Amino acid sequence: MTYLTGVISASDIKQVRSQVRTAVKRGAQMLEMRTDYLENLNTEVFRKAFTFSKTSNLPIIVTCRDKRQGGANEYSAELRSEILVTAIKTAADYVDCEFDNYVVSQFREKLDLALAETSRTRLIVSAHNFDGPFNNIDRLYRDILTVAPASIPKLVYTAKHINDCFDGLRLLSRKHGQAIVLVMGPEGIFSRIIAKRLGCFANYAGISHDEGTAPGQLTIDELRNSYRYDAIDEKTLLYGVIGSPIAHSLSPAIFNACFGDSGMNRLYLPMHVQDSKEQFYTFMQNANQSWLGFRGFSVTIPHKKNALDFVRERGGRVEPPAARIGAVNTILIDSEGNFSAYNTDYAGALGAITSTLGISAQQLQGTKAAVIGAGGVSRAIVAGLRDVGADVVIYNRTVSKADALAAEFGCRAAPLSSLASFKADLLINATSIGMFPDMDKTPLVQKYLSKDTVVFDTVYNPIETRLLKAARAVGAKTIDGAAMFVAQAAAQFKLFTGEQANTRLMRKIVAGRLGTLNVSSG
Ligand code: NAP
Repeated sequence: MTYLTGVISASDIKQVRSQVRTAVKRGAQMLEMRTDYLENLNTEVFRKAFTFSKTSNLPIIVTCRDKRQGGANEYSAELRSEILVTAIKTAADYVDCEFDNYVVSQFREKLDLALAETSRTRLIVSAHNFDGPFNNIDRLYRDILTVAPASIPKLVYTAKHINDCFDGLRLLSRKHGQAIVLVMGPEGIFSRIIAKRLGCFANYAGISHDEGTAPGQLTIDELRNSYRYDAIDEKTLLYGVIGSPIAHSLSPAIFNACFGDSGMNRLYLPMHVQDSKEQFYTFMQNANQSWLGFRGFSVTIPHKKNALDFVRERGGRVEPPAARIGAVNTILIDSEGNFSAYNTDYAGALGAITSTLGISAQQLQGTKAAVIGAGGVSRAIVAGLRDVGADVVIYNRTVSKADALAAEFGCRAAPLSSLASFKADLLINATSIGMFPDMDKTPLVQKYLSKDTVVFDTVYNPIETRLLKAARAVGAKTIDGAAMFVAQAAAQFKLFTGEQANTRLMRKIVAGRLGTLNVSSG
């Protein structure tokens, strides 16, 4: 069992009461009393706080963290050991003592004496590194067990990049008995979520964002509601979105909701892989280990080309549209560790057009399309449109890029400045013009639009862009970026699971996240 542990970081008894009640309400399975947060701490203050915490009927860890290891207040070693001894005498389930302190004989003797008089309380021996990974985490784990063989070792360190997480995760997967290994910082977030899959003894979570006690610590609500915490077990299959930045991504919310909706034992995680080919390659090697259970990734900026190169170099299958587009947004890993690569932006763009207009892809043959932009999304759209026989003109600010793309896919190019005179059945904005926060911008104003041109804006934040509002105002049919986003995600869901996604649920989540109630189309 991995205890979902609510961290009580109260400065007075009033706060203890409110935090304990909230932790219980949110679904904590254990409490950690961080007594170092209590002001004017003494054994009397501790007893009051502990007595109230016991009313929760949850197991309790008592910690009085040394300031040098992240403690909130500077309390003396004598007081800290006194608190832990009092906790043992008042039947705390666990006490947490730093390894650095436990190796000091006076500290250890007091604790060991109190522990010897009860079978109720178990010792957690902890080590923290806020600056980076431990030099040798495996040796530290062995050292703790040598000095305190009956203890639960707890090792917590900061990841400087995502690849720092894997030493800790590997140790968790190979531990003997109970252990806690957690990685701090934004780069460590995914490892905190999957710690339960690897049987970490306790996973610490904040009661709310204001009351978190470690960098990158998620709240109980986030773990349970966004990351399917209750459903995770040792067989959970893992997926994630790789990119940089990644915190804004809507993908974890929509995939986790769909996995939950379909009753699948799968979990989807945000993976911040910094902008270098080397980091990406190292990450993919680290992630491809059978004990981790990764089965697939969505890939976004800046790693779409790296993903293509990686899968090619590993001898994996690259589906033809992805090879032609020169970018991959989906990677699958089979149970033997083999890779395959896909591009669902292509299918997503075509799917958004055909499903919104209620036509088949073949019916787009001969359609005159004006595509604004010559970046990554344009490539996928142009490839899709050309494959179904549409007649495409690419308008771009940097004309040389439009020329190159047009030459590659057999279409025409024009400068963005000539867009006002475009003649097409379908106008597609594949630039970031009009995207949050520049929502007052548009690639084309209303007077150049007519009801006979379908307007598709790939921007999905906001869902209704200025361009789409203008198109609606002249009576034109519109396709929004959320429709494309959902269609490409649905194609990924099919690749990941072999099953159809609940696109209505996906659309509802995208709309909800972007603060709009428009859930009718797509
Ligand atoms: P990209 O590769 O960086 O390309 C950006 C394109 O936008 C380039 O053609 C660039 O022109 C043009 N551009 C940017 N700012 C401009 C400005 N101020 N004026 C004129 N042109 C400008 O980006 P991408 O990956 O193709 O993404 C483009 C957009 O697609 C994103 O911003 C996003 O809104 C949207 N998108 C939608 C989905 C979806 O599922 N709906 C998914 C991904 C992206 P230059 O060549 O002259 O620089």
